[in-house]
Amino acid sequence: MAEFHKADVEKLIDGVLPWPAVQDMMKSAKDTDRFDKYIEILQERVPWDEQILLPLTPSLFIIARHGARVVKCRCGHEFGDYRVNWKLSALIHVRDDEESLSKVYKGREMPDPTWVQVREYICPGCGAQLEVEAVPRGCPPDFDFLPDLDTFYREWLGRPLPDTAQFKDLTPDLVAEWRA
Ligand SMILES: [Zn+2]
Repeated sequence: MAEFHKADVEKLIDGVLPWPAVQDMMKSAKDTDRFDKYIEILQERVPWDEQILLPLTPSLFIIARHGARVVKCRCGHEFGDYRVNWKLSALIHVRDDEESLSKVYKGREMPDPTWVQVREYICPGCGAQLEVEAVPRGCPPDFDFLPDLDTFYREWLGRPLPDTAQFKDLTPDLVAEWRA
């Protein structure tokens, strides 16, 4: 089994993959207390004080600061507005040939490197591997999860956030800026 597959399974067993955990809580009718406790535990585990609005991965969080909503790593490194795919600001290690792919896949599990590449997204602050994706060559980074924070806090938790932000994927705007 590929190393990162095993890691994913371990995370599932530990129940720490954040989004499935939150979805699970949302299924149990208005279980806001469980969500609050979950956030409380996460908050205790990070070395900084900004309020966690929602976890994205075991190491990445959307935090609130002065009306902005920012993606922040456990180590403190920030990736900017949560509506822009944070992967664009990460370090990326690409495995796209047999030699590099054979380090994470064994034998017949290995995808065809002429079609598929494995991208590892690394935090520039602490070097932690934040996410791994196996995708067709050349396709843009997958924007895994853009949560509608205002709806989530207002409709589900019943306590709207003090500010609102337009719910929109801003990734194309950043890419357009790069092209300009
Ligand atoms: Zn980091």
